[in-house]
Amino acid sequence: MSFSNTRLIAFDLDGTLLKEESVLELLKLQESPAKKLELAKKIIYYTKEKAIGAATEMNMLSSMLSGMEAEKYRQRIDSFELMQGADYVAKKLKKEGYALAILSDGFLMVANHVKRKLNFDYVFANELEVKNGILTGKLITPYNEKMPYSGCINHNLCKRKVLTDLCRNLKVELKDVVAVGNGTSDICFLDIAGKSIGFNPNSTIEEIADVSIKSNDLKDILPHIIN
Ligand SMILES: [Zn+2]
Repeated sequence: MSFSNTRLIAFDLDGTLLKEESVLELLKLQESPAKKLELAKKIIYYTKEKAIGAATEMNMLSSMLSGMEAEKYRQRIDSFELMQGADYVAKKLKKEGYALAILSDGFLMVANHVKRKLNFDYVFANELEVKNGILTGKLITPYNEKMPYSGCINHNLCKRKVLTDLCRNLKVELKDVVAVGNGTSDICFLDIAGKSIGFNPNSTIEEIADVSIKSNDLKDILPHIIN
């Protein structure tokens, strides 16, 4: 499939295409009482700080999933709710000829679930290791960027690097990319896109994005993409 002359829309996942923060929701499935308590503290901390996205935090949160049955994890993913309007937005943008990509610092199984539901073209995320049907807690990071760009937080998946590589492969120019995101790990790819949209952004994203939208319906981004 060729996307020459095509424009690309790159979306963050949690809080953008998905209503929920999938990493935190999956952690709540952990049954070990000790891990649950430890988890509760971390969740409160990270929800407050919105610090998810940095490599050390993600690795630590993933390690708390160790021992969980992969099947239970899959079932929870099936019940994740899409952001209101996401289905309409995906259909509309596809119809207009845009290529659609998910860039997530979270888990590939969640990102793939959304990719299938919304018929996206590309997905990039980290994987959780499964052995004998059980999550080991190890995070597999195929897009790990050892030397992030200046200004990048130390992430497992640098969205700027992933987006730059994808554009090169598709022969799409960065100026023809629209990036949509909300949190700290989105700064580096919103920064290089031709147009950046903060969807319910945190304060940093609000500062750097070309457009900021506070809404519970993703459809509100469309007037800023389609003229
Ligand atoms: Zn980065």
